[in-house]
Amino acid sequence: MDLLKECAEAKRIGIGGHAKPDGDSVGACLSLRYYLKKKMPEAQVTVFLEKPNPVFAELAGYEDIVTDFPEQEAFDVFFILDCSLDRLMDGAKYARAAAKTVNIDHHITNVPGSGTVNYVQPQVGSTCELIYDLIDKDSLDRELAKILYVGMAHDTGVFQYSNTTPDTMRKAAHLISFGFDFYRIIQETFYQRTYLQAQILGRALMESIRFMDGRCIVSVIDRKAMDFYQVTKQDFEGIVNELRNIKGISCAIFMYESAPLEYKVSMRTDEKVDAAQVASHFGGGGHARAAGCTMKGTFYDCVNNLSAEIERELKKAQ
Ligand code: 5GP
Ligand code: MN
Repeated sequence: MDLLKECAEAKRIGIGGHAKPDGDSVGACLSLRYYLKKKMPEAQVTVFLEKPNPVFAELAGYEDIVTDFPEQEAFDVFFILDCSLDRLMDGAKYARAAAKTVNIDHHITNVPGSGTVNYVQPQVGSTCELIYDLIDKDSLDRELAKILYVGMAHDTGVFQYSNTTPDTMRKAAHLISFGFDFYRIIQETFYQRTYLQAQILGRALMESIRFMDGRCIVSVIDRKAMDFYQVTKQDFEGIVNELRNIKGISCAIFMYESAPLEYKVSMRTDEKVDAAQVASHFGGGGHARAAGCTMKGTFYDCVNNLSAEIERELKKAQ
């Protein structure tokens, strides 16, 4: 796909990503905007996202992200990044009204894509890596390299997960050659927690429950705990990864109460469980090793329903 050809003649370009935007979706939206503004200075390019975590505030264009989804004149091109059209939430109205939609994503559950033009590559670790592939490398500068690096690092667990390839490392090496302080920004956006976030992580680990002979683990934070600690969904980033790191675990589940009798579920798995398969059974999706969904019912209903699907995966792996 040729980004500039897809945008030829476009005067108004919109860009959106999924709800609860993570490093890769923020990075993908901001890097694409930065690139298009550089290449098409006449065009108006706007990013629409649910309010991202302020740890990303130093990325170029963060301040210009529109988070309240106001009514807009139809866009000539609307980019759906790091997700399918249905996960844009309020942003879906812009995509539906746009003359053209371009979907760039790496979620296996979004193959073949939900745009009028699709570039969905599930074998690639991050949408930022796809943006890197699609841009003209001459336009890379320190700011653009930093945004792309942050997105790639976040979705690969800082180049540690199995979605990291030799190509990913070559691209990351190229990006850090632009001279931004990559160690600091990854420390501050990926590893660092506020004291409150560390406390809620501690509570989630303390109250976790193992099941299926210790092969699965689940932890839940309900509304009462969220109110007590005064935390929001952004404060739960990384908890599920800590659960996944426990010895013997094939499937780690973290969930929080997103509404009364509704839970947002995050899953991390080893090669014995296809997380995307389990999540898509409940209307969610994601990747083989990391996926999510939203489930209705009590905590116990949700765990029971998830267990049946996880068990099916574990049996397949035997
Ligand atoms: P997380 O657990 O970090 O929220 O999400 C893990 C992966 O699954 C991410 O790539 C995310 O985009 C995807 N994901 C999480 N929740 C959902 C969902 O409800 N639907 C779909 N399609 N994907 C999800
Ligand atoms: Mn991603």
